[in-house]
Amino acid sequence: MTPKIASFLDASPATPCLVVDLDRVDANYEALRAALPAAKIYYAVKANPAPQILTLLAAKGACFDAASLPEIEACLKAGAPASAISFGNTVKKATAIAAAYKYGVPLYAFDSIEELEKIAHRAPGAKVYCRIAVANEGADWPLTKKFGTTVERARELMLAAPGLGLVPHGLSFHVGSQQTATPAYELAIAKVAMLFTDLKASGLELKMLNLGGGLPVNYREDVPGLEIFGDAIMDTLIAHFGNDLPEILIEPGRAVVGNAGVVASEVVLVCRRMAADERRWVYLDIGRFGGLAETEGEAIRYRITAGNGATGPVALAGPSCDGVDIMYEKTPYQLPLDLQAGDRVLIHDTGAYVTTYASRNFNGFAPLEEHYL
Ligand SMILES: *Cc1c(COP(=O)(O)O)cnc(C)c1O
Repeated sequence: MTPKIASFLDASPATPCLVVDLDRVDANYEALRAALPAAKIYYAVKANPAPQILTLLAAKGACFDAASLPEIEACLKAGAPASAISFGNTVKKATAIAAAYKYGVPLYAFDSIEELEKIAHRAPGAKVYCRIAVANEGADWPLTKKFGTTVERARELMLAAPGLGLVPHGLSFHVGSQQTATPAYELAIAKVAMLFTDLKASGLELKMLNLGGGLPVNYREDVPGLEIFGDAIMDTLIAHFGNDLPEILIEPGRAVVGNAGVVASEVVLVCRRMAADERRWVYLDIGRFGGLAETEGEAIRYRITAGNGATGPVALAGPSCDGVDIMYEKTPYQLPLDLQAGDRVLIHDTGAYVTTYASRNFNGFAPLEEHYL
């Protein structure tokens, strides 16, 4: 937790709330630039689309990966030029493509002929890039099934693009979010590099490689640092492309904002479900529907702290009347033995994928309050 966040929390704001230190966002962006100087950074807006964050990044000259028309409009409003935006969702409404094209958004992702035809119709002459499905092994929040196509199919689609009046610009992949293993990037780069070579032999020289998101945050378990990922990625790029690197894009979301935020929450109830239970159940005023959606399957395991003193095992659940509103039942969490209703609990590194996952008034609970310092 940063000193700024700590002093804000000293004033006991109403909970639940997310408190984000914008200096940390700034520092993370700089650290990413230093770790991968060859890459252009396209911030994945969905990780946290707060205007304060978009404005800060736009002023620093960042580019943006947007998934929808409202996200594109949020970037424009924050001062980003349309030329700095990539429409990176492979599933887009035709009306959204047309509107983005009118704004001047130059880059569009696809992974099917149907989407490519939609782009050709609504954004004639646009630059397109094809998303390749790659292994997501090592990712705590995988994205494999829903997106991407095979190398063979991508080859056909890229070769078909000029005939549809589009510019076949590059390739992309996503190694899965909270990717903790550098080989995921190495294998993915090797896979797409072969397609670069293959297409070049067919007379099509691609200009861009988009490495997607995935860079991890240190939650409960330690992960390799950004420099380690940066070095592994750079070494692999050089091994495959030599000094003829295409334009490299990277789309970090979690790594830009994750460790910049803390959720402050209040204990609503501490009890034992059965008299003989050693483990207590701790119910917080935030849960799966209040923004902690990534606790599904206990995939993202946040660091959670409360007070001092001797601790014992707990399960953690949210305040709603839904049976799936349980954050952690299997992961061995420990909280103070004297924890009681009304106490403050902090959920650390919650700057990414929390505010926008909060439901609207489920069980009457308001969406999560946000503070940007
Ligand atoms: C979600 C997403 C990202 C960001 O992923 P992180 O794991 O948060 O870095 C990047 N690119 C695309 C296409 C995405 O859908």
